Amino acid sequence: MSLFDRAIVRALPVVPRPLVQRLSSRYIAGSQLSDARSVVARLNAEGKTATVDVLGEEITQPSEAEAIADEYVAALEAFERDGLDANVSVKPTALGLKLDYELCKRNVEQVIAAAEPTNRFVRIDMEDSSTTDDTLRLFRELREEGHARVGPVLQASLKRTVADAEALAGASVRICKGIYVEPESIQFRDDDDVRTSFVRSLATVLDGGCYAGIATHDEWLVEQALELVRERSLAPEQYEFQMLLGVRPELGDRLVAEGHRLRIYVPYGRQWYEYSLRRLKENPKIAGYVAADTLGRLVSGR
Ligand SMILES: Cc1cc2nc3c(=O)[nH]c(=O)nc-3n(C[C@H](O)[C@H](O)[C@H](O)COP(=O)(O)OP(=O)(O)OC[C@H]3O[C@@H](n4cnc5c(N)ncnc54)[C@H](O)[C@@H]3O)c2cc1C
Repeated sequence: MSLFDRAIVRALPVVPRPLVQRLSSRYIAGSQLSDARSVVARLNAEGKTATVDVLGEEITQPSEAEAIADEYVAALEAFERDGLDANVSVKPTALGLKLDYELCKRNVEQVIAAAEPTNRFVRIDMEDSSTTDDTLRLFRELREEGHARVGPVLQASLKRTVADAEALAGASVRICKGIYVEPESIQFRDDDDVRTSFVRSLATVLDGGCYAGIATHDEWLVEQALELVRERSLAPEQYEFQMLLGVRPELGDRLVAEGHRLRIYVPYGRQWYEYSLRRLKENPKIAGYVAADTLGRLVSGR
């Protein structure tokens, strides 16, 4: 984490809200479902699919978690009405995991009940390490109950992840580096170790017959993933690349042009401001990326 990144994060509380909104508008569809629908329609027209995240992590009441589940149901109904190619990604804590495991499970089941009739998929995002066991348990229970179109996320930066990948044979698994900063005893600090763990975890899920969501903007990892896919002679229907809205679009365009599937993660919701600040504080490296990208766009007139 550089001094530059830390300085940006320290300055965040004094950055005016409209400026944060301008900076985040590249990465967040907007505050309303209609914003997400427009963004997904544009992505679909570019040959990309989407997974939509309703923002709302810091909930304190069961009613707030239930309202988020209801919003997911409304989003899924709207995608079907509009003929959009979009799934959803849910955050267990937004659906009540920290309040009550069973409440969270009921809310996820409600989202799945809206997704299944139209063959849409529900991805369960992975949050900080205090939630890893419960999140994997939630996925296992849902799968045992017969829900096939649901899958978890593994974070390559966690030391446990290759072992977790081995236990997920046959599932649909997203592999990412992991955004949360965790204690050194459980997380790789060195970028090369994280990359090695990503490649090993991805190879493990592919060899375990999983459908892999390869979630990264790291070109080196994209090349390694392409190599793993080539070595196993996988068809484009057996894996997909995934990227965040607004991040490295030129890399995504190249993958689509080469015939690979690409799914874009599209966050939206009234809590865009809290989400933006929280993400930047959780991982100051991201603040550095956003600042560097914004400066680059200002200089080049993009
Ligand atoms: C589809 C998707 C879903 C994800 N789901 C989860 C999840 O469930 N749990 C979780 O912990 N993490 C999740 N993440 C985040 C992930 O763990 C990483 O923090 C993030 O993707 C950055 O890692 P990277 O592999 O892109 O490599 P990096 O080396 O971090 O980034 C490579 C390059 O991409 C650009 N970049 C990367 N991230 C950003 C950004 N946010 N803003 C601007 N530029 C950026 C920079 O130019 C950087 O140099 C997800 C990521 C994606 C793409």
